[in-house]
Amino acid sequence: MTIVTRFAPSPTGRLHLGHADAAIRAHDHARTRGGRFLLRIEDIDGTRSRPEHVAAILADLAWLGLSWDGEVVFQSQRLDLYAAALDRLRDMGLLYPCFCTRAEIAGAMSAPHGPTPVYPGTCRGRPAPDLTRPHGWRLDMAAAVARVGALGWCDGDRRIAADPLAQGDVVLARKDAPASYHLAVTVDDAAQGVTDVVRGVDLFEATHVHRLLQALLDLPVPHWHHHPLLVGADGERLAKRHGAPALAAMRERGEDGRSLAARLRAGGFPKPAGVPILS
Ligand code: GLU
Repeated sequence: MTIVTRFAPSPTGRLHLGHADAAIRAHDHARTRGGRFLLRIEDIDGTRSRPEHVAAILADLAWLGLSWDGEVVFQSQRLDLYAAALDRLRDMGLLYPCFCTRAEIAGAMSAPHGPTPVYPGTCRGRPAPDLTRPHGWRLDMAAAVARVGALGWCDGDRRIAADPLAQGDVVLARKDAPASYHLAVTVDDAAQGVTDVVRGVDLFEATHVHRLLQALLDLPVPHWHHHPLLVGADGERLAKRHGAPALAAMRERGEDGRSLAARLRAGGFPKPAGVPILS
């Protein structure tokens, strides 16, 4: 079987070292096994995605010495696929419209199962929802889980039991976007034949939802490899908000991207000791 991996950045900002690490890991996972490496731009969030960030992502990857197979795929051009998946779930009776505003949701979020706050189901079971009002669509998680039963996935060399209930009734279509991250990523990984999802452990929780959506939509199940995140000198994970240097800035001041990639491959940057969530 040919291994297929992907790097799937959202063009809502500039890439930093953590993104470079993630891209290299996904790239090398495929290429060292004779597989294919795909690039998907996750630009369904029309209000935050910017063409200049797309251009910078392509330039950053080339600068790091990474090439991808086939055409770059843009989620904004695949909305029909997500709408079809949404229709299917709606026909199964697993979705309900949600009219809550962001402020209402923020005030009502509860964390019954642990640290992840979940939507309390305010709009679930409304008798005659008025669909002329702005609304998103949420998955009735309890009904979805009851339909497919126990699920799990392979993560590296571990077997993980899926617990999607702990994620609550996640949003699958937003008021302002026709699909959510969860729906688009699940549909696309299957449509693109991704066999191995190599991504940061910050997306580990999302996999509970993705695994469930695969079962509901009869999609193939990839192998996941969640990797630890790079941390800065202060031990905090790299993120733009912590002032991580943008790859574009390093590129523009003439630094050598291939040597940077070699240092990342050699583990030349601080990393957390383990992957706590998996250990
Ligand atoms: N687009 C997501 C992000 O930039 C990553 C998607 C994924 O790897 O599943 O965080």
